[in-house]
Amino acid sequence: MSNLRFNGKVAVITGAGAGLGRAYALLFASRGAKVVVNDLGGDPHGGGTGQKAADGVVNEIKQAGGTAVANYDSVTEGSKIIKTALDNYGRVDILVNNAGILRDKSFANLTEDDWDIIQNVHLKGSFKTTQAAFPVMKKQGYGRIIMTSSGSGLYGNFGQANYSAAKTGVVGLANTLAIEGAAKNVYCNVIVPTAGSRLTQGLLPEDLYQELKPELIAPVVAYLCHESCQENGTIIESAAGWAGKSQIYRSKGCLIRQRITDPATIESVQANWPEITNMKNAVPLVSLSASRVALVEKLEYLRKGE
Ligand code: NAD
Repeated sequence: MSNLRFNGKVAVITGAGAGLGRAYALLFASRGAKVVVNDLGGDPHGGGTGQKAADGVVNEIKQAGGTAVANYDSVTEGSKIIKTALDNYGRVDILVNNAGILRDKSFANLTEDDWDIIQNVHLKGSFKTTQAAFPVMKKQGYGRIIMTSSGSGLYGNFGQANYSAAKTGVVGLANTLAIEGAAKNVYCNVIVPTAGSRLTQGLLPEDLYQELKPELIAPVVAYLCHESCQENGTIIESAAGWAGKSQIYRSKGCLIRQRITDPATIESVQANWPEITNMKNAVPLVSLSASRVALVEKLEYLRKGE
């Protein structure tokens, strides 16, 4: 197997001063990419700023013989991050939306500020940074974008209503970007990582924390960003040197009326509930049009019943 390289490519990694982002930045640089190491340098809850985090990773890359430049802006000002790439390297090929913070509280205790800051950093930050890079990538005819979701977004987690909402939001954003960018070879995929980092310290058991190294996820993200990878609009969960695809499945369902002229009633929903929720013959849903085709088939069936 020959080494997959990123020579001539420019990779922007947000929140790359620590944890997962640092691992991504080091890997891309070691494989020949020029890297923009973005990090606001604040605390895990969104307070403060600093240049040390981004500078530290840029130094690591340079000491290893790689090429990198620091950017200290918040992802909420994503266009400044992309400008750093364009000013220094003239292009942007890869964008990993990775920056993140937590403001965990049970829903009853969540303040509007806790809600807003999490939506701003995770969802709006991904929107702002991606929107600045997207036209450049489309014009080039090449781009690879990663959104970072979370198990909390896909499955929910006590105390993370704000974070769960934002992390599901980036999945929706990725779904549509995958469609809008496809014709121009601009692909967007989602990573759902689990790793020992500042964000998970004290949340993961210590032995698991030590074992779940960000470096074990970085190759998955890097592969998704390689020009040879044709994956688009996919959610990949990864941890501990394992990776797998996640997808929405829908049950076969059933009609809750027999003829097109029949009404739908609460009682017929109740009577059919076991079949509506029976996942035995569930199928993956790949697109909105596939979902609509199934709907039209149901309507045709009802009309024939007349
Ligand atoms: P981390 O705290 O080690 O790294 C996040 C980095 O983002 C920090 O260096 C921080 O300074 C930076 N950052 C925060 N707000 C920023 C902003 N507004 N602009 C620019 N940079 C900012 O945490 P991590 O675990 O490496 O998290 C990386 C991403 O992975 C986050 O989006 C997180 O939600 C997600 N994630 C992590 C896990 C996990 O198990 N570690 C699980 C699911 C999702």
